[in-house]
Amino acid sequence: MIEITLPDGTIKEYSKGSTAMDVALSISEGLARNVISAKFNDTVVETVTPLNEDGSLILYTWNNPEGKKAFWHSTSHIVAQALEELYPGIKLTIGPAIDNGFYYDVDLPEGSISDKDFQAIEKKAIEIARGKHAFKMRAVSKADALAKYKSEGNEYKVELIENLEDGTITFCDHDSFTDLCRGGHIPNTGIVKAIKVLSVAGAYWRGDENKPQLTRVYGISFPKQKELTEYLELLEEAKKRDHRKLGKELELFTFSQKVGQGLPLWLPKGAALRERLEQFLKKAQKKAGYEMVVSPHIGQKELYVTSGHYEKYGADSFQPINTPKDGEEFLLKPMNCPHHCEIYNHRPFSYKELPKRYAEFGTVYRYEQSGELHGLTRVRGFTQDDAHIFCTPDQLDQEFKNVIDLSLYVLGSLGFENFTAQVSVRDLDKPEKYIGSLENWEKAENAIINAAKEKGLDFVIEKGEAAFYGPKLDFMVKDALGRSWQLGTIQVDYNLPERFDLTYKGSDNESHRPVMIHRAPFGSMERFIALLLEHTGGNFPLWLIPDQAIVLPVSEKNEKYAEKVLKSLENNEIRALLDNRNETVGKKIREAEMNKIPFMLIVGENDEAANTISVRRHGGEDLGAITIDNFANLVDTEINSTLKSF
Ligand SMILES: [Zn+2]
Ligand SMILES: [Zn+2]
Repeated sequence: MIEITLPDGTIKEYSKGSTAMDVALSISEGLARNVISAKFNDTVVETVTPLNEDGSLILYTWNNPEGKKAFWHSTSHIVAQALEELYPGIKLTIGPAIDNGFYYDVDLPEGSISDKDFQAIEKKAIEIARGKHAFKMRAVSKADALAKYKSEGNEYKVELIENLEDGTITFCDHDSFTDLCRGGHIPNTGIVKAIKVLSVAGAYWRGDENKPQLTRVYGISFPKQKELTEYLELLEEAKKRDHRKLGKELELFTFSQKVGQGLPLWLPKGAALRERLEQFLKKAQKKAGYEMVVSPHIGQKELYVTSGHYEKYGADSFQPINTPKDGEEFLLKPMNCPHHCEIYNHRPFSYKELPKRYAEFGTVYRYEQSGELHGLTRVRGFTQDDAHIFCTPDQLDQEFKNVIDLSLYVLGSLGFENFTAQVSVRDLDKPEKYIGSLENWEKAENAIINAAKEKGLDFVIEKGEAAFYGPKLDFMVKDALGRSWQLGTIQVDYNLPERFDLTYKGSDNESHRPVMIHRAPFGSMERFIALLLEHTGGNFPLWLIPDQAIVLPVSEKNEKYAEKVLKSLENNEIRALLDNRNETVGKKIREAEMNKIPFMLIVGENDEAANTISVRRHGGEDLGAITIDNFANLVDTEINSTLKSF
């Protein structure tokens, strides 16, 4: 017999060789119907893998991320079979699951795959799926594995196998199809009811641009047709809200091949919006006791060798800048922290002067692969709303709570209501992985967990997810389309104070190490604005939106009055435009709608006579004719309802 420990802590006995499916069946038939994957002693197993020792078992259904992973990876096998049948001579390489679906990289003997081929691939794949073929793992010797793929002339699989150790190699069979695979499949193909090929793209073998270019086929699959339909609707909506599209339409930012890939250029409206966001945070930070600092965009290479960033970013990022002086090298800064450590080091501090909270909207540069670049979310130069807090270990608790308060204020003011927090702590079984004293780690982890509890956050604790230099808390924000984004990291750091030899004089008159907190509620201005664009679809909160109102004169006769209205709006600090083109009001309204302007102020003869404006909201709601003062009050009330005081 073997002892199986389930996630809730219950331990049950099973005969040796029982499978995850047997365990599921022993719990309930309903569970057994839904289990599609499992993890045994931290290793992904098939639901039919015989379990031969004691251990802990987690059963996964479609509703777990791990279950989806198995589901999508298994579908990649099905699609690979379809591709093999439709494109004789095709060479398969790798086909993993990704966050939303899967891909398979293939080398086509000739021609290409395009949108118009997707349907045929889907049809073939679903035909195969309907056969309800079981996925069966099979161990093979290295020699046999190599022989199979050499005879097929598949140099990619041969290369993969050459890097594997004999005795660890497995194939997965289903129907007439076999693939090199280390496992992690659903029980059979029949569970997959809907398959969609989403796109194709070029991808270099092993991500190396000196290696052959392959065709990457992206797809997704679901256990119900209805779920695919819903997903496609969501994709459609996401396309409409794509920040690259909206950024262009709303004239917020642009890119120039001449300036360089991944280097956004902010247009006047976008720059003003950024400025408003910065001012908003600066104001709150000032109240929270932060001090602004400024540091240069470059630093000596040695600075980043000291901080450890050179080791992390050096070889794969922008290369050092040389100067006329021999041996002198500067790097574009990949992080602001080293600079802030040196700011802290400018003079000795006593414990009475701590915490020091240095904030900077610091622009950093990292060389992302060109294939990884994406609008404003993956760029090569971006500005962090960075701050570093240097405090005593005893102050950590309060500082953490303060940072959470600030983060909640930021999220609330920008209309994010749906978020959770993730607390990343040590793996207690691997103390050698972490630097800093045990006592400090305990203090820091307790500080974070207490702060999260006290602030009423909905949070999960992830064991073993902490960085080697300290525990952290991340805010995970759900946007309007239900997608999760990681925002606002608060990270404790015991490493940099050590590396930069930071000290303060304690009440005992001895020298002590401060603790450092890194925090950035927005993360990066670029990524945050992208997220905000997609979350709001361009309908930013009223306090932030570039143009709050547009004045639309009904005819030329009302132009003078319209100008007067514009002036009064400006006096009331309302950002407004005037559309005095010789177009119909209907057309002007349509365009103002497209430009997501919250209020359209239509002025005709009656308004002029009564000294009013006829207010129409974005989306069509008619607020009738009101005075400018009343309108200004309305704007004020609405702004104050989202932008609470901190
Ligand atoms: Zn597989
Ligand atoms: Zn930092």
